[in-house]
Amino acid sequence: MFAQVIVDIAHSQVDKIFEYSCGESLRAGCRVKVPFGGRVIDGFVVGVSKSSSYPPEKIKPLSYVYDEPPALVEECFALMNGLSERYRVPKAVALRLFLPAEMRSGRVHEVYKKYVKLADCGIVLPKSAKKQVEFFEYLKGHSPAEYTFCCEKFGRGAVNGVVEKGGAQVYKVKVNRAPGGYEGGSEAGKVLTPAQAAALDSIEKSQKTVQLIHGVTGSGKTEIYLNLISRALQQGKTAIFLVPEISLTPQMFSQLKRRFGEQAAILHSGLSAGERFDEWWRLRTGESKIAIGARSAIFSPLENIGVIIIDEEHDSSYFSESAPRYSTIEVAKMRAAHNGCKLILGSATPSVETYQRAVSGEYNLITLTQRINGRPLPHITIADMRREVKRGNNSPFSAALREELAATLSGGNQAIIFLNRRGYSHTVICQDCGYSLKCEHCDVPLAYHSEENCLKCHYCGAKYRLPRACPECGGLHLRYGGTGTQRVVSELKKLFPAARILRMDVDTTSGKEGHYKILKQFADKNADILVGTQMIAKGHDFPSVTLVGILDADMSLHFSDYRSGERTFQLITQVAGRSGRAGEAGKVVLQTYSPENYILRYAVNYDYLGFFNNEINLRKATRFPPFSLICRVMVTAEEDAPALEALKGVYFGTEELRQKYPQEFIFLNKMHSPIKKIQGRVRYQVLMRLEGEALLPQIYSLAVKYTTAKALVYVEENPVNLS
Ligand code: ADP
Ligand code: ZN
Repeated sequence: MFAQVIVDIAHSQVDKIFEYSCGESLRAGCRVKVPFGGRVIDGFVVGVSKSSSYPPEKIKPLSYVYDEPPALVEECFALMNGLSERYRVPKAVALRLFLPAEMRSGRVHEVYKKYVKLADCGIVLPKSAKKQVEFFEYLKGHSPAEYTFCCEKFGRGAVNGVVEKGGAQVYKVKVNRAPGGYEGGSEAGKVLTPAQAAALDSIEKSQKTVQLIHGVTGSGKTEIYLNLISRALQQGKTAIFLVPEISLTPQMFSQLKRRFGEQAAILHSGLSAGERFDEWWRLRTGESKIAIGARSAIFSPLENIGVIIIDEEHDSSYFSESAPRYSTIEVAKMRAAHNGCKLILGSATPSVETYQRAVSGEYNLITLTQRINGRPLPHITIADMRREVKRGNNSPFSAALREELAATLSGGNQAIIFLNRRGYSHTVICQDCGYSLKCEHCDVPLAYHSEENCLKCHYCGAKYRLPRACPECGGLHLRYGGTGTQRVVSELKKLFPAARILRMDVDTTSGKEGHYKILKQFADKNADILVGTQMIAKGHDFPSVTLVGILDADMSLHFSDYRSGERTFQLITQVAGRSGRAGEAGKVVLQTYSPENYILRYAVNYDYLGFFNNEINLRKATRFPPFSLICRVMVTAEEDAPALEALKGVYFGTEELRQKYPQEFIFLNKMHSPIKKIQGRVRYQVLMRLEGEALLPQIYSLAVKYTTAKALVYVEENPVNLS
């Protein structure tokens, strides 16, 4: 027999199938080790055949077959081809997506626990072997016992002595490292509201593959998802359920565990390697049938998929920012097509592109306009911060927000304060010369962190001591500008000394269950105010929260990015949606320096359609996505020379394409990236707007062609982040 093998090397030169001889029992999907160029390396078996086209004397045997069921499901091979063609990555790189990182290189293994049990209580031990006698007597009352425990208590020699004499037996049991950080219990399905039932009905009857559920926050989308998963399980099928940053939303996972128990497995980067390994295998062996996770869970090793759900489909975390730079929705469509199942996209604020596809009839559109039980959406008040400043208010809080906070606290309710900046202040500027302190490795301003009393770079994590003087002019008047979460907390403490305040941002959530601990404390009402960044915007369901303060609503409006309006609208709607989800009506105070901005007007009225119609007309008129494709070829390097060399190559190559196909180009230029340096690497880009996807393969080829040992070149399509 012969095995077709892809070697686990991410290089285009070895991106082909190699053949090795193998035993009869080998199956496609197995992981193996193979001799390759004088070394032995890992590989994946993508096929097995009886004959080979190579002369037999040239074929070497496999070195090793991992003793396990095939790790890769059959569908991987089709997706591997699809992905490597689409995103121009070697097949090995595409295959790696299907395996948890720790499984490659075999660093993580199954864990077993040893036990010792009574085998023959009739054996006679010599009286002199006191420890053995003691252990044997103990075992008679405590069989089976943990092996290591017994060894510690009686000595390894004593335990092994009794085993050797036939009195006891050692055996091992596989340990299932299940992720913690969620609540247990069980829960039956809810009685569906008419709107939920109608939504399920519409999905069932629809012939379209992609279904968009556009439902306001709190309209009960989750219950619809759970029903779809139940139906898939009833048909003997499996399900994939994606949630952005699942590690931030243990509530969602708890809910799934309560509903589906062991059938649900979770995959995300917050798990320990061992936990992820075990969860992954539970899915692979069919022990679990529902994969829940962030972006990468779209590659779950499931077969016979009955439904794929992508919650908060507009979320930017669904775009991969490392090779291959795939769109999760695009991969999900491939898997849905392969399995003949439906893909459900859900959001209160669908991306403009998705919604456009829905109104144009490509997707089935389901709209939920009401919150469950008719609870009103929270009322949003705009606080004009320009006026506050004129009145001499230099605190981060408007008068309106202070009042509402006081009322919320005295009413025994909870509040959330959102601010997308961590640290204490986010710039340090010399007032004498105007110099702004920057990171040595990144072209970005440094933020002051009061807890550690240092300056931090939020791009590379570098820490700096506080300078006494300006490094440029020696001036002593350094101004700490801008407000971060730490400053908000300290100001809140001054205003409301009795309030219990939690802060949730990157700095407070280190550790495996850091997020969970803070969220749990807040959910259990052991805190009154939760201050946080983006992390608190998504998905959380805290019934006692009746006030949300948005401190810098318009920050994202000023990015020079065609999506900034869309982002702002989404963010406000999502954060506001955390308020008034249960009993009392919720309120939102939205602070801004540009209250007249039309995006804010639509957001305040929850007018998604108004926002969408305005936005889509703007995009059409200015020819931005979805009416064009933005393509950025990034070039990064440690030094300028190799970067510029590669940039030149890519740019001339693209220019040539433009001369050949002028009708495909709307815009083309080369330039420094807005952030000129990150982590010590200079950044340049060729930026273009294209009519469509026709030239993408050629542009990907240019990136491959000009990548060198010193310069990294890669393509981004409609990049989430243009910095
Ligand atoms: P969404 O995902 O649309 O924001 P959720 O699924 O979080 O909304 O639902 C909002 C609230 O309504 C949750 O507390 C949920 O438990 C509750 N809920 C959802 N469906 C029902 C139902 N059919 N009956 C009673 N309560 C429900
Ligand atoms: Zn840095």
